[in-house]
Amino acid sequence: MTRRRKIYEGKAKVLFEGPEPGTLVQYFKDDATAFNNQKRGVITGKGVLNNRISEYLMLKLAEAGIPTHFVRRLNMREQLVKEVDIVPVEVVVRNIAAGSISQRFNIAEGTPLPRSIVEFYYKSDELGDPMVSEEHITAFGWAAPQEIDDILSLALRINDFLSGLFLGVGLKLVDFKLEFGRLYDDNDQVRIVLADEITPDGCRLWDVKTNEKLDKDRFRRDLGGVAEAYQEVARRLGIMPEAGPRDMKGPATVQ
Ligand code: C5P
Repeated sequence: MTRRRKIYEGKAKVLFEGPEPGTLVQYFKDDATAFNNQKRGVITGKGVLNNRISEYLMLKLAEAGIPTHFVRRLNMREQLVKEVDIVPVEVVVRNIAAGSISQRFNIAEGTPLPRSIVEFYYKSDELGDPMVSEEHITAFGWAAPQEIDDILSLALRINDFLSGLFLGVGLKLVDFKLEFGRLYDDNDQVRIVLADEITPDGCRLWDVKTNEKLDKDRFRRDLGGVAEAYQEVARRLGIMPEAGPRDMKGPATVQ
């Protein structure tokens, strides 16, 4: 394979120049980080699983009418995506209290929230992704008011759709993080689309019956069985990689 120009390297992914203008190749690494890079590790096979899981979810969302940057999966670790101008705001949607909202408001983890709550965080490793309001976002010009409206309504539609999809495979979508980008069409019209990834790296997924955590909290909290949890999510969604776990150089599969 020819070497491509690296555009950007993040904690869990690398973006390369795509085969044609306006496209990028998104490569999924096995690297895991938590607590703003203070904890680092490798989850063997994670990149392969996340590539498949994100492909599956982005395609399902597109079928449901959500515009996304996803074009197609290229191989075990790479997918082709449309190049977008990323809005520097992380959008978190929460259905059940866990993680930072439990800490901030002293709400027991697992408490259902009165309604879904959407939060915004400014994307900045240096500042530790501080929580921000719509006022900050529009005043500092990170997104226009209309873009925030679009992002909010897309985030809630995505939450409804994914909550149902995961419930169908015995998983509670506790919370998750989304990123959006501006996609310019041929006429220089711009619209907001879902970008980045949707994987157990950025979602909390709990088993409906046992509340077992099947997401990156297993890594964050040293619970063990991290790769197995990601495999279990892929298995439930019916998308284990073609050649099975052999391709993931990971531990043995779940039945
Ligand atoms: O830590 P916190 O409870 O705020 O995380 C909420 C959700 O957003 C979790 O599902 C977490 O995985 C995700 N998240 C993320 N990237 C961040 C912060 C949070 O994917 N930088």
